[in-house]
Amino acid sequence: MRKKRLGKANIEVSVIGLGGIPLQRLTEEQAREVVKEAVDSGINFIDTARGYTVSEEYIGAALEKYQLRDRVYLATKTMVRDYEGMKKEIEISLQNLRTDYIDLYQAHLIKTEEQYAQFVGEDGGYRALVEAKKAGKIGAIGITAHTASLLEKFMDPEKFDTIQFPYNPIENQGKGLFERAHAHDMGVIVMKPIAGGAFGRGDLSLKYIMQNETITVAIPGMDSVEQVRQNAAIGSDETALSIEEKTEIQGIVDRLGSEFCRRCGYCLPCPQGIDIPTQFLFEGYLTRYDMKDWAVGRYEAQVKNASDCVECGICETRCPYNLPIRKMLKRVVQAF
Ligand code: SF4
Ligand code: SF4
Repeated sequence: MRKKRLGKANIEVSVIGLGGIPLQRLTEEQAREVVKEAVDSGINFIDTARGYTVSEEYIGAALEKYQLRDRVYLATKTMVRDYEGMKKEIEISLQNLRTDYIDLYQAHLIKTEEQYAQFVGEDGGYRALVEAKKAGKIGAIGITAHTASLLEKFMDPEKFDTIQFPYNPIENQGKGLFERAHAHDMGVIVMKPIAGGAFGRGDLSLKYIMQNETITVAIPGMDSVEQVRQNAAIGSDETALSIEEKTEIQGIVDRLGSEFCRRCGYCLPCPQGIDIPTQFLFEGYLTRYDMKDWAVGRYEAQVKNASDCVECGICETRCPYNLPIRKMLKRVVQAF
């Protein structure tokens, strides 16, 4: 397994990491085996989140049972933005992960300028992260987002050691952000490396990602020992993509590309207040990740969802991929 330095976080991580989302749909025992197999396969970076229900707890249980804490770097994240809330979240993560130190703590999915302002403000969560770092509870601070135009504004190299953003052959709008992060010695973590399963050929998608030198680590979500073995093997493959592989990737991109949201966010704001890319994100969790309850819960908790679209069409004039957003939102409504 190849390793790379995660920018200013200054740790050497395997180029394939373990994404913790799917662990929550396993039993604790199954999750333990996935984590153990990952470490045995050379993976030393595990990313999870407070929001992934039992994922942190399952990982903590696996690390304790197999005494793996010294063999992995742990990353987690929270959507809590305020100072007091963040202090509590860090303590809960430490407890769940059964450790006294988390290598990377990230601001999870900052979605608006207001949220960012709160997070970095006087009573914001960022201050709690800085204090936790000084106290030796966390090692580095990162930021994650799904929308390129927002991350572009928020990825302050003075504040953050890493960024985390989706990337794969159909969602490659993060390329410029990665170059900028790399130039500022920020670690680059790639989420959704196989487009939430939509890409089909996970091996080719990961290999495509590995060719981009500005990326430090890709974190596919894995829910079986077999999947871990397959994905980990790509981390040792140093060959360039062959002409046949490139042709195959392009074929898949062409098939999926016509109606696939890249989450760039340029369609926003919607006058009805719909967070358009998030509708497609939840649809993906429902239809591709097989996380029905999780997706339905989050979809329904939104103040506005796809069903509030009045079909004004403004968003479609802004989408650089010319997506038929109105038609796609109807599909989302139907799916839910
Ligand atoms: S078409 Fe629907 S989603 Fe698009 S801007 Fe209008 S109301 Fe919002
Ligand atoms: S609908 Fe289009 S503009 Fe909006 S996030 Fe998706 S790809 Fe970007």
